[in-house]
Parts: sequence; structure tokens; C-alpha cells
Amino acid sequence: MRYFLVWCAGIILFTTSLQAQSPKKYTPSDIYQAVQKLNFLGSALYVAAHPDDENTRLISYFSNEVKARTAYLSLTRGDGGQNLIGPELQELLGVLRTQELLAARRVDGGEQFFTRANDFGFSKNPDETLSIWDKEKVLADVVRIIRDFKPDIIVNRFDHRTSGTTHGHHTASALLSVEAFDITANPSVYSEQLKNTSVWQPKRLFFNTSWWFYGSRENFEKADKSNMLKVDTGVFYPMIGLSNNEIAALASSQHRCQGFGRLNTRGSQEEYIELVKGDLPADPDNLFDGIDTSWSRVEGGKEIGEVLYALEKNFSFNDPTVHLNDLLKAHKLIKELEDDHWRRLKLKELESIISAVTGLYLEASSDNASAYPGNTANISIEALNRSNAEIVLHSVSIGTGLKRNLNKPLLNNKKMNEKLELQIPEDSSYSSHYWLSQPWSVGMYTVDDPELIGKPESPVAYTAEFHLSIGNYDIKLQRPVVHRYSRPDKGELYQPFIILPKATASFSEKVMVFASGDAKDVALTITAHKDSLAGEVQLKYPEGWQVENEIQKIEIAKRGDQKTVVFRVIPPANEDDNYFSSVLRVNGREISKELVTIAYDHIPTQSVLLESKAKAVRLNIDKYGEHIGYIVGAGDKVPESLEQIGYRVHLIDPADIEAGSLDKYDAVVTGIRAYNVLDNLKFKQRFLFDYVQSGGNLILQYNTAGRWAPQYKDIAPYPLTLSRDRVTNENSEVDIIAANHPLVNFPNTITAEDFDGWVTERGLYFPKEWDPAFTPILSMKDQGESPTEGSLLVAPYGKGYYIYTGLSFFRELPAGVPGAYKIFANMLSIGKADPENKSEIKG
Ligand SMILES: [Zn+2]
Repeated sequence: MRYFLVWCAGIILFTTSLQAQSPKKYTPSDIYQAVQKLNFLGSALYVAAHPDDENTRLISYFSNEVKARTAYLSLTRGDGGQNLIGPELQELLGVLRTQELLAARRVDGGEQFFTRANDFGFSKNPDETLSIWDKEKVLADVVRIIRDFKPDIIVNRFDHRTSGTTHGHHTASALLSVEAFDITANPSVYSEQLKNTSVWQPKRLFFNTSWWFYGSRENFEKADKSNMLKVDTGVFYPMIGLSNNEIAALASSQHRCQGFGRLNTRGSQEEYIELVKGDLPADPDNLFDGIDTSWSRVEGGKEIGEVLYALEKNFSFNDPTVHLNDLLKAHKLIKELEDDHWRRLKLKELESIISAVTGLYLEASSDNASAYPGNTANISIEALNRSNAEIVLHSVSIGTGLKRNLNKPLLNNKKMNEKLELQIPEDSSYSSHYWLSQPWSVGMYTVDDPELIGKPESPVAYTAEFHLSIGNYDIKLQRPVVHRYSRPDKGELYQPFIILPKATASFSEKVMVFASGDAKDVALTITAHKDSLAGEVQLKYPEGWQVENEIQKIEIAKRGDQKTVVFRVIPPANEDDNYFSSVLRVNGREISKELVTIAYDHIPTQSVLLESKAKAVRLNIDKYGEHIGYIVGAGDKVPESLEQIGYRVHLIDPADIEAGSLDKYDAVVTGIRAYNVLDNLKFKQRFLFDYVQSGGNLILQYNTAGRWAPQYKDIAPYPLTLSRDRVTNENSEVDIIAANHPLVNFPNTITAEDFDGWVTERGLYFPKEWDPAFTPILSMKDQGESPTEGSLLVAPYGKGYYIYTGLSFFRELPAGVPGAYKIFANMLSIGKADPENKSEIKG
């Protein structure tokens, strides 16, 4: 029976902690584990480059088995990757992945840090990475985080000695970690940091190796392991009813936007770590060997240890309240510690335990998820003591201006509710994601406040402080002000309480392409974050452009409602590419923000404030044809982009393709990775080839090579071999090697200038061998590599054309890159010189 209860407790721990926003509720086994962690004074830091790089098996092992304070330093927020669950990309994807990492840490018990480095996209080697990141700043951030966190042990995910074998960000993360290890204790290095932190020397640095780094399991078996230690991460925790690796799988399954959901695994499993710096522990089973992880580590700690070790030894699972006096005694002693680092950390841990053993529930919840400057937020206070301890609530204060004196006893299980009115100052700043508050570069976010660097999130908008006495002991406990609500389909939910502007504005199209001199309507949607919003909105536009009605009045009756205003925009005669922005004027304050909400069940809802702007591109572009058939692959915004330049795009379900069904299209385009993700497409390929033979244009965008690579016969009319060749530097030089080919002359003349202003990369998964029927159009290369000619291949087939391209149109078109539009228009127009060839859509 006892075992059954403990097992249930474990399940509760893991179900409640998976709910992104709700406060943690402690079972006796949770409390016991928290006491064990309180009594372990040691820490481990895991270092890699991206969300999902981290080995959650080791993080969970350090946190739950060793009981060490454990953290993952991800150099970037993973802004450059793909999103399998929603539309967020770039900086918004970074926000989502930050929260997924925090969700993973809530499961495995770790903490989370980041540097200011931005995930700018794939990088072939660390030299390129460190030239795009500001190496000095990223190293400074790694040093700062080590000095703040003070890890005894650092574990790198990647090998600092094998440049070029993995993503350049990966190797760079290991190089920076190794370099930092030698300088964090030196007060003359980044000495300005010592205003907020202190020097620190970690004891050991490991590389978390595995057979993968050796090419095969056989190679790894043969490798010299004299400098390696083995850790069994398959340990079972009877107290929570889970194996370490089950926790690890639950944690890494939080990386949902990367499709990392996976099966839980159980049973013994060995992890290898190779010593890089420091000395091997004398006891190979104790990674902290030679490091004092007891209370005697800290001056004045011995007495604290005497109280808390006895408590741990005699822990009462039936009634943890019996430990209250000892916990308060320890609190008093820890408060007197001179060592600021341990005092801060251990008080925080201990205060959670004191709340847990008394069943003390303290909450400050706003009736709205947001408030605006000048607004009054209604805050509900709930205070409940669920023990026989004598507890008095003296006061509650929020922010600097609000304090309610109460002096009321909290009787066992008698709930106390209070209502407070929180006045938000008129000059209050908005809640932000601090790394997005200022303009950033391709490689680095801009953060001025050194106190924020390294933190996963901005501090909460408001904290409530509950001043209590427990017995005769005075204590102040903090809780973030939250918004608690319920939804019929989801039950109780929590959201962070935030400060928003009175209104925000969002352009309907983030990139507006004017392919002719004709005027176009530009729509802007205003959202009110207060009732009775009244003001005006102005469209700001660059020189040479004209707007007919640039200032318009807005009135919105209800908070949360939206109104769309339309501006008539006349583009300049000449080509231009520039930004529009919007300004709202409400009660004398100017607001230039757009609000983007990111809401998923596994993370707290994120309200991201960005500058309200849109790119406007005036192109002189010629094109033939009107109706384009598009077969969507893994998902991209190419169809919307083609509509911007006047094409009508029809999405085609491969199941509907049959003989003759494509003849109505001037061209057919396959979306990115279409042949990787659409199993049935290859069965329809003969219809696609027939379509080309009778005069159609077929354009294939990139498909991945490797395990999921399609067979050439399934995708091309002539032999073609895909490869992993890619050109990752978006500024790398491009040679037009088939200068007389219609593809670079008709109807638009393509020149070197058309390769200016590209974003992220040139292209990927270029074919490396092809039949002589193909003409390669372009040659390009990254620095230090030999040129590849496979980025754009064209072959006549029957009366039509077949084109295969790995150029990153899926990135360039939505970013409004003019040259990319012209090349795409030429691909769609090739062979259509004779106006008779311009077909009308039938049926
Ligand atoms: Zn990675």
C-alpha cells in the first residue's frame, strides 16, 4: 500500500509539472527530494548550441540522481530552424523554443540559460559561426553565466576538437566553453562583470561523447576510454515511480515544434563523458569527488547541516509538517550567511519547502491577463494554511506602491480572500521579451542591461510579497502576479500577467510586392487592449511612395476587439525596397507596436511585442502565364508570394492528379520537400512528365537527400542525383554560367545584382550529378569550398521545361528579395515567348 501511494505521488508530480503555468504542488516525496537537493551544495552546467541539443538523460541524472543544481546553457534560442506545429519562424520561433526548453526543464528539474547569440541558420564550421556571432560578446556571456551559476562541473555536448564534422554552432559552443573554463577565475577578464557577479573556477570540464562521434558503435568500442567515465542514466527512482530515462524522454518530448516527441525508455543505459579540463575524480562513480558538496562548503554552514541532515534522515512522509520548526531554524541560520550566492539560492529552495510542509497556498491573480499604463488591475488574493501551524498574514504588497495591512491569522484550511486594486503607472514600460526590445543583427541580439544577460525570460511584470509570521518567525514569501481562469474545454489555466500598450497594430501582409506602378490597398488591423479606445493611426512610409489617407481616426468600444483600416498606397515609378510602419496615438502617447500571441498547451501563452512594420517592394518584373498549380510539400509561403506579383495560384492535391488534369496550368510547382513528405506523389509523376511533354513547365523546389531521398526516376525525366551540397552564406558570390540561356534573359534579365540582399542562405540539397540534358545555370560556393553548379538546373522535355532548384526561394520570396522574384518569374515564363502560349484556365 505504501508503495502504491508513493507511486501515485510520482504520477501527480509529473502531471502537474507538465501543465505549463500552474504553480507547483508538492507531494511528500517531492518535499523529500527538495530537502535532498537543499542538502547538496554542488552544481553542473550542460553546454550546447540549440534547443534540443541537450542530453536530457544527463541533465535529469544530475538533477534527480546526484541532486545537484543543474542547468542547460543553450547558446542560442534556436531561432533559425523549422516549426512543425505552427507558423512561428525566426525570432518568434526563438520565443517558442525558449518556452519549450523551460517546459523541458520543468520536467527534468534543470534551469535554463542563453547567451545573446542568434541562431542565424546553418553554419558549416565554427570559424564562420564565430565571425557572424560577435565572438567576444558570446564568450563574455558564457563567462558571465559560469560566474553567476558557479558550476563545479561543466559538460559539453560537442567536441571542441572536430571542426567541420557537425553544425558550426555546435563546435563553437564547445570551443567557447573550453576557452571560458580557463578565464572565469581571472578578475582581469571581463572585469566589468564583477560589479554584478564574482569570479569562479569550475573543477572539471567533460565532453559528453558517444559512438556517434566515432562514426560507428564498433569504432567506439575500440576507442581508448582511459580518459572517460561511464554514467548509468537508466537509474530508477522508486520515490517517483519513474526511470531517469523516462523523465528524460518526457523532457525532450517538450520540443514539439521540432517534432521531438518520442517513446519513453527504461532500463540501464550507459552515457560516456570524456575529461577535457581538470582532473579525473579518484572515485569514478562520483563525478563530484574532491568537491565539498556538504553544508561545510559554506562558512557558517556546519550548523545548518546539523539541522537539515537530521531532518532528511528522519523525514516523515506521513506528516512533513513536523519538520516546520527545524526548517524555520535553518531559515534563520541561512539568512545570516555572509556568502551571498548560497544564501540567495538556499533561501529560495527552503522557502518552497516551508510553504509545502504547511500546505500554504498563496496566490495573487489579476482578473485580466493584461493591463495597460494608467489602468487599474483587480487582483484577487488567496491565502490558505493547510496545517496546524500558527500562521499570521501581516500584509500583502505588490510593486512599490501597493500594500494592504491585514494582520489576520490563517486558520487551518480556512481560506482568506482579499481584493486589491493595483494602479499601473501611466509611464509604465510594456512587458517584453528583453532580447527583442532593440533591433538586432543577423548573429546577435542586443541587450544593454547586464542583469538580464543569460536569463531565459524577462522578469515578471509584478510580484506579490506576502509578509507572514509562522510561529513567531517572520518571513516574506513572493509569488508572481498571474491570471488564473478556466475554459470549458481545458479546465483551470494560468497565464503570465503582463503590461500591454492601450492598442497595437499589425500589417495584414508583412511583405507587400508592387509588381507594377498600380496603387494597392494596405490593410492594418488595430487591436484594443482597453475599453473605449479612441485615437488615430498613421501610416509611415518612405520617400517616393504616396499614401492617400495616411492618418485615420480609430474608435473601438471593447477591449480585445479589432478594427481593420485600409490605406491606398501608390508605389514609386522606380524599383525600391523599403519599410512601412504604423503609429497609434492614444491619449497623447505614441505606440508603434504589434502584438503577436503564441499559444500552445505545453507552454505559457506568450505575448510578444514587436515593431509594427512591413516591407514594401516596388519591382519592375515581367512575367508570362497566369495560373500556377502548386503542390504543397512540407509547407512554405511561396504560393502567397507568387500571388503578390499577380499570379493566380491553385493548390493541387496529388490524389486529384490524373491524365490531362494539369493542362490548364501555365506552370506547376512543387513545394519544399514535397517528394519527401508526400508518399503518393511519385505515383503521379508520369502525369507530371506528360504535362511537361505537352508544353507545361514543371518546377521542383528542394528535397532532402539521405535517408528519405526520393529515387531520381520518381522525380526527374533524366538522371539526377541529389546531395547534401548547400551554400549557407547568403552573401556568397554567384556566377551566371549560362548567360545566354532564356532562364536568365526572359522575360527578366538576371544579373549579379539579383543576388544581393538574400537572407539566411543561397540554397540547399543541390543535385551533384545530372544528365547532359540539363543545363546548369549558376555556379556558387561557400568560402574555402569548391563551386557547385547544381543550384538551378533546367532541361527541355517534349514541348515544355523541367526545372530542379535548391535555391532557397521559400526564404527569399517571403522576405521580399527582388532578385528571387525575377528568377522565379523567369522559371514560370520559360518557353512562353509566343503569346499564343499563354493559356487560359479551363474548367
Ligand atoms: Zn543543434
